[in-house]
Amino acid sequence: MKPWEKNIRRVVPYVPGDQPKGDRLIKLNTNENPYPPAPGVERALREMETDGLRKYPDPAASALTGALADYYGVGQEQVFVGVGSDDVIGMAFLTFFNSEKPILFPDVTYSFYPVWADLFHIPYRTPALDEGFRIRKEDYFQENGGIIFPNPNAPTGLEMELEEIEEIIRHNQDVVVMIDEAYIDFGGRSALPLLEKYENLLIIQTFSKSRSMAGMRIGYAIGHPDLIGALHDVKYSYNSYTMNTPSLVLGAEAVKDEAYFKETLNKIIKTREETKVWMRELGFHFPDSKTNFLFASHERIPAEVIFEALKKEQIYVRYFKKPRLDNSLRITIGTDQEMAALRCFLQKMVR
Ligand SMILES: *Cc1c(COP(=O)(O)O)cnc(C)c1O
Repeated sequence: MKPWEKNIRRVVPYVPGDQPKGDRLIKLNTNENPYPPAPGVERALREMETDGLRKYPDPAASALTGALADYYGVGQEQVFVGVGSDDVIGMAFLTFFNSEKPILFPDVTYSFYPVWADLFHIPYRTPALDEGFRIRKEDYFQENGGIIFPNPNAPTGLEMELEEIEEIIRHNQDVVVMIDEAYIDFGGRSALPLLEKYENLLIIQTFSKSRSMAGMRIGYAIGHPDLIGALHDVKYSYNSYTMNTPSLVLGAEAVKDEAYFKETLNKIIKTREETKVWMRELGFHFPDSKTNFLFASHERIPAEVIFEALKKEQIYVRYFKKPRLDNSLRITIGTDQEMAALRCFLQKMVR
């Protein structure tokens, strides 16, 4: 070992899903939206002046926080934006999880949480989901240094009742409780109305799934101005210019077109419900998803076998080789055409 090596921060990084290349492939592995961003985004991109890139962007990202504040009916001082919700959540861990007590999140959940906790040396405990893959609210009534979980949860797709979420918050008013609502737009009930009652609640959402802009990297948090102020202090202590100029312009543009947003969401929800029906007919079972993916197991064929067979066909889904998850496939809801191709292949396979 070289002497300086003992000073390296040792981390086991998060592994994102594959981004395979090719035109013929069907990509159902990272929960991207199969539909393009709002038409106004394309227009704004075409009209963008490259001279604007000469200057630094607005460090406060006001165009974007303003558009989000208008859309959600909150104050602009209640909105924080970052480079995808990964950036927002990482910043929030750094800002709010500084207790000696462990933070809590489920054992089966977004696998980035333990990575940030390790990176920032935050102690954590991971209460197990029940046999039905549900979060047990009582597990979060113990002493802790903060709480985070997604609603709906990933990769299960299951939504938790808002009443149960409120019970968790009510039991934990001396720490920050973060709800990661990456998939809330696909039919779940957001915790946003609870912000009026609980100043320790932080809600995190993203443009990557429901708003068709994973490539733009935009995420945001909504919460009490004091929480948002603390996030800004940490951000300005690390990197003042997280949001680039195109992301500010195009992100604001996307938020303005509510009609298009609702239209694509409804298309995905309709395709998801149809997919549930034919997948059950083929012998698959899954928790009842309120997201843009299904977490499915087959009654007979191991998930890994199906995963490899699909990959040979250039149909990419996500497979996690981890305890409790290794007999399921996380399948993103694509277009009707993509789902038809998947159905056609699976029909042959399970026969
Ligand atoms: C996709 C996802 C995120 C992060 O998405 P960004 O692209 O960084 O905005 C965060 N949490 C969950 C649960 C996700 O599935």
